[in-house]
Amino acid sequence: MCGIVGYLGTHDSLPLLMEGLKRLEYRGYDSAGVAIPVQGQMRIHKAAGKISNFERRIDGVRLPATEGIAHTRWATHGEPNDVNAHPHTDCTGKLALVHNGIIENHASLKRKLIEEGHAFRTETDTEVLAHLIEKYLTGHGLEVAVSMALQLVEGTYGIAVAHADHPGMLVGARHGSPLVIGVGSGEYFLASDVAAILGHTRHVVYLNDGEMAVLTRDGYHTSTIDRQRVEKEVEEVEWDLDMIEKGGFAHYMLKEIYEQPDSVRNAMRGRLQATEGLARLGGLNLSSEQLRDVKRIVLTACGTSWHAGLIGEYLIEEHARIPVEVEYASEFRYRNPILDEGTLVLVISQSGETADTLAAMREAKRKGARALGIVNAV
Ligand code: GLU
Repeated sequence: MCGIVGYLGTHDSLPLLMEGLKRLEYRGYDSAGVAIPVQGQMRIHKAAGKISNFERRIDGVRLPATEGIAHTRWATHGEPNDVNAHPHTDCTGKLALVHNGIIENHASLKRKLIEEGHAFRTETDTEVLAHLIEKYLTGHGLEVAVSMALQLVEGTYGIAVAHADHPGMLVGARHGSPLVIGVGSGEYFLASDVAAILGHTRHVVYLNDGEMAVLTRDGYHTSTIDRQRVEKEVEEVEWDLDMIEKGGFAHYMLKEIYEQPDSVRNAMRGRLQATEGLARLGGLNLSSEQLRDVKRIVLTACGTSWHAGLIGEYLIEEHARIPVEVEYASEFRYRNPILDEGTLVLVISQSGETADTLAAMREAKRKGARALGIVNAV
């Protein structure tokens, strides 16, 4: 999920990056941001919520630059808020980095970096990358510093890095999260998905896991993360945007059916800690004592969310051994449901806007039950 766009060329970069982000909107995200180097300073703008909200925030902002990086985030570590939105910076504020994926060993890296004097500003796993690259920049160029930093990282990443003291250069790398280089005429792109750049070029170089790329105004080169050069072919994308958004399927419904395993994996990504046998349920807002007091669960929703609730009933009863009922929100709100403090009402909605479901949530709260919402959209 979520996306990366980088641009280095001859056009005004801010509108180009914004256009790229919009092309990635269909993948889902919870916040957006850009970093653009202008005269030795890294200018960063970011905001939680929809790209339209972000656009309103930067209305009137003009950044005279023809390069930059941008991101749409799907939070795994740290709330989806303005501060945790990407790009992230190092202590100097000159390095900017966007990241898709999860840095599994972020906690130990962060501890060490803090001991070494780095100051962290966000709750994300991503920020360690910015500080780690900063550390290796002492005495090395950007490409070498990125390579040294990535060799210490465990987890998955697609990244793009820019630095105000190294204008005219973008560094990208991937491991377990896609990244492509777009080759235009006199301009280069980085993207997590060709859809972001297809309006500008059909010529792309797909990076493999464990590879990195350095883009400059004169060209680009690719290597492994430990800096063995690799020559890669430029491929021509034959799909059009519509086909890409549908992922090669005849229609969206089929695509969504085939995407189910990935969707389940993405939903659990960063939340299940297999090695410790634990789950991190950020945003639940219930203490373990409160959770232990739950005697009964009511799932309420409409349509597809209601069907998801039926699966939830089986899973929760099987694993938590707590009785679950699933009820149509449109019924729930009009009958007189039995709710008490021992009842937890889980309200499910894809859009977060389903009127009956919202009314059911209000009803549950009014009756003194604990109510929690599960929503696809922020
Ligand atoms: N793990 C990172 C975060 O939570 C990146 C999430 C993403 O892939 O957008 O900020």
